[in-house]
Amino acid sequence: MTLPENLHVIEHPVVEHKLTYIRDETTQPKEFRELVKEVSILLGYESANKLPLKSVEIKTPLTQTYSGKISIENIVIVPILRAGLGMVDGLLSLFPKAQVGHVGMERDHMTHLPSDYYYKIPPTPENRFFFVVDPMLATGGTVIASIQKLKDSGAKNIRFLCLIAAPEGANAFCNTHPDVEVFAGALDDRLNRDKYIVPGLGDAGDRLYGTK
Ligand code: URA
Repeated sequence: MTLPENLHVIEHPVVEHKLTYIRDETTQPKEFRELVKEVSILLGYESANKLPLKSVEIKTPLTQTYSGKISIENIVIVPILRAGLGMVDGLLSLFPKAQVGHVGMERDHMTHLPSDYYYKIPPTPENRFFFVVDPMLATGGTVIASIQKLKDSGAKNIRFLCLIAAPEGANAFCNTHPDVEVFAGALDDRLNRDKYIVPGLGDAGDRLYGTK
């Protein structure tokens, strides 16, 4: 299968190992949340591999030297409610000074299209660097609409991080937003009739927050 150019599936034993526990139906919410945080750190690390560095002068105990600092101060993490919240702490541990925006999307009963019931991001989005997070890229409808809304607000620099992608959602997303790099912990087989990812992990929100 040829993957879209902007889809990066992180093939790493540590990610797969942690996803194995995340997928396991016997994993309880506390451990599930910890694992989601850990995988989010790994995805964030991978997705940050091209962030520009600026050279700063510092003094070590031995000498004066120059060393790199990430030059993007304006990082914004945007979880898509509700399951995206589970990935925020992991990214905040990588980028402690990041701001956190929130997007809540629901399907409009009349149009059947996703529309936002909550949308809060920092001002001047055009100057910021967005990490949009949602554990599951299933049909892609919600995240496609969320990122369109971010772009309509002026955001230009956006990455999307998910734990598991389905081929259907990955293709739909990458075709609609070819300028947005997607980082996924795994690319699964398919969607079932109820639009759950198979083999997947079940409902990410329910597994995170024990609402089942
Ligand atoms: N959302 C989930 O939480 N799980 C899926 O498998 C698909 C969408």
